[in-house]
Amino acid sequence: MKNSAVNQFLTNGTLYLSAPEAARVVRKVGLEFSLRRIAANIHEDFSRWADFDKSTRVANHSEFGVIELMPVSDDHRYAFKYVNGHPQNTGLGLSTVMAFGVYADVDTGSPLLLSELTLTTALRTGAMSALAAQSLARRDSRVMALIGNGAQSEFQALAFKYLIGIDTLRLYDVDRGATAKLVANLQPFGFNIVVCESAADAARSADIITTVTADKTRAIILTPDMIAPGVHINAVGGDCPGKTELHADILKQANVFVEYAPQSRIEGEIQQMPADFPVTELWQVFTGQAAGRTCATEVTVFDSVGFALEDFSALRFMYDSALTYGFGQRIALIPSLENPKNLFSTVADPHRATTGRHTSNGPVATVTR
Ligand code: NAD
Repeated sequence: MKNSAVNQFLTNGTLYLSAPEAARVVRKVGLEFSLRRIAANIHEDFSRWADFDKSTRVANHSEFGVIELMPVSDDHRYAFKYVNGHPQNTGLGLSTVMAFGVYADVDTGSPLLLSELTLTTALRTGAMSALAAQSLARRDSRVMALIGNGAQSEFQALAFKYLIGIDTLRLYDVDRGATAKLVANLQPFGFNIVVCESAADAARSADIITTVTADKTRAIILTPDMIAPGVHINAVGGDCPGKTELHADILKQANVFVEYAPQSRIEGEIQQMPADFPVTELWQVFTGQAAGRTCATEVTVFDSVGFALEDFSALRFMYDSALTYGFGQRIALIPSLENPKNLFSTVADPHRATTGRHTSNGPVATVTR
């Protein structure tokens, strides 16, 4: 039952990847490698869908946002993510999405890794979007509209550059400062960039439209008149009950793909549709059990909400990379005990004799056999 990862945990404690350390891992291996490797891990894990114990995430809603817990496991490893979604946070100097999580050993329950997941979520969301587009977008797609230019947007742009070959971006955000930030950050990557005046302007002549806006409302970012035949829509921002981005008529006319249907029906764009609205889960496409895009003129939608298995795949990548390159530090998240039944030893008075007898002023215990 004990394996080398558990032995490491027993000897050295839990590996802790702080936000700066996780960024160091990504800088060391490179953004392109990170996005490609996480996409490969997601493909690999989704392709053995039946091996995983899956559930919809547990969401605690409040006036301004949501806090969610996302667990998943196979018979070897367990992962969970804590993540929030608070669209008004940026006005307070906080991120809309903040996350951390744990990667653990199933046989013993040992927490092997405690990691930041804010950066990692952006990477895995970009990787998942591009992976879906490999099966759903037209192969000659080169132009992408990117509507919503906040924290996720660079990672979406780069994932589509590396995995799909997107070379032209049409950008729109209600906040011009967000678009200016995105333009500046993408400057070294060689995109042709067009800054647009509206979502409709951005969508014009795009092969792929990515919506990644944050608003706690039934927003309508895209309407049917903006969608040309053959377009692939990567709808990322609608990921909560009452929080959508697409007009329902787009869904009626499109071929819609989801991560895990029970969760997407609660949180995705398809929350607007009847409970039996037909969708295809992406694992079926990845394993060849269902078709992705079937012709050049159909409209496809990836109704992305973010599923725990993507975080599992991303945590697997961060854990392996941190170990390979020696990043992170070992922390005593769990008490280290010589005798595992003697948890009390961690709080016992160190001046007390190990026999349990007080050595100073306290009472002396009497043991009767
Ligand atoms: P962010 O707050 O950093 O950026 C969101 C941007 O959307 C802001 O710049 C804002 O000005 C813009 N925006 C809001 N309304 C708009 C509109 N009507 N038109 C154009 N732009 C608009 O947030 P983020 O971290 O980039 O996240 C974006 C969204 O993606 C959030 O809704 C988040 O919940 C979602 N998300 C989904 C997944 C997933 O797996 N599906 C993962 C991470 C984040």
